[in-house]
Amino acid sequence: MIGRSWLEISIKTIVQNYHICKSLLPNSIEVMSVIKADAYGHGDMQVGKALQDAGCQSFAVSNLMEALRLRDAGVTGQILILGYTPAENWSELVQHQITQALLSEEYAQALAGHQIMAQFAIDTGMNRIGLDGDDPAACETIIRHYANSFRLTGIFTHPSIADCEEGREFTLQQMAKFKAVADRIADMKLPYLHCLNSAASIWHEPYGNLSRLGIVLYGLKPDDSLTLPKGIRAALTWKTVISMIKTVHSGEFIGYGCAYHAKKELRVATLPTGYADGYSRALSDRGHVIIHGKTAPILGRICMDQMMVDVTEIPQAAFGDEVILCNEDYTPDDMAKTIGTIGYELICGISKRVPRVYIDE
Ligand SMILES: *Cc1c(COP(=O)(O)O)cnc(C)c1O
Repeated sequence: MIGRSWLEISIKTIVQNYHICKSLLPNSIEVMSVIKADAYGHGDMQVGKALQDAGCQSFAVSNLMEALRLRDAGVTGQILILGYTPAENWSELVQHQITQALLSEEYAQALAGHQIMAQFAIDTGMNRIGLDGDDPAACETIIRHYANSFRLTGIFTHPSIADCEEGREFTLQQMAKFKAVADRIADMKLPYLHCLNSAASIWHEPYGNLSRLGIVLYGLKPDDSLTLPKGIRAALTWKTVISMIKTVHSGEFIGYGCAYHAKKELRVATLPTGYADGYSRALSDRGHVIIHGKTAPILGRICMDQMMVDVTEIPQAAFGDEVILCNEDYTPDDMAKTIGTIGYELICGISKRVPRVYIDE
């Protein structure tokens, strides 16, 4: 049901962002499009197919279900599962030629023996997954030990603080640790060595031959302190409408908990979008929406399915008018900043009940 709360997504913009990123990377580095979490809310099948048509041959997801959706959509290239797949699902990995990240030696042991395509994760400082990069000799031993139980296609690590200037030194250390492992197994000629996310790819000296790009493809920033390369634009616009308009008198309250107390007469619009749609309740009383190009502050608490905004200063606002919750100019990054989180969280949280409309079609 379009007309209540919906996303307008420009696949063309995502493809354009992909081409811009590619142009900023050396030719020796292939782009792996990270389209986990439904392509950060943009629609994994649509984004996967379009990027494949644009020439991308590598994709990353977080789990087996996401990988299988891409195969269903006709994505034929490399698909790397970055996270955990239960060992009992090994045959699906083989059948659909999905590459599995090996999170630890213990996990490799559990999956070994089926010639699964796999890449060892190396932990270079994040302490999330991977073999201990502080001991490159032990990494080498483990990788060689499993060389015949898997079809090993690479190793990778993940930078934990490449998104800010203060992280430069730490990121260089992470790259150096990764390189120490890569050098020890150079004779194995594994096809892929990768250690770059968006932040490390665009704002650091790139290393390896694959770059795992997520957030920049969608036109958002890894961190507020960064400036996006020229031409990169947010691909998503979230819209709703004014479902009711009324006057609230001085002294009255608005919303749950009587959280907003009107100090003067206000013109108030009700919008049919709430936290069940993924509009963060943290934006209560702090966020704003855009109506007729003007800012309308949120009044009181965001409800499950609705919210109220102040349109006193927007006299032309009327029942049925379109409302922008975020777009290319007022991005999810801007919304996120207001409430101390990141754009990633907000876009991944836009719920499935918000229909996605693909506007270039
Ligand atoms: C999510 C993820 C990425 C992509 O990160 P962005 O900051 O969105 O570019 C890359 N690598 C791994 C391992 C990830 O989990």
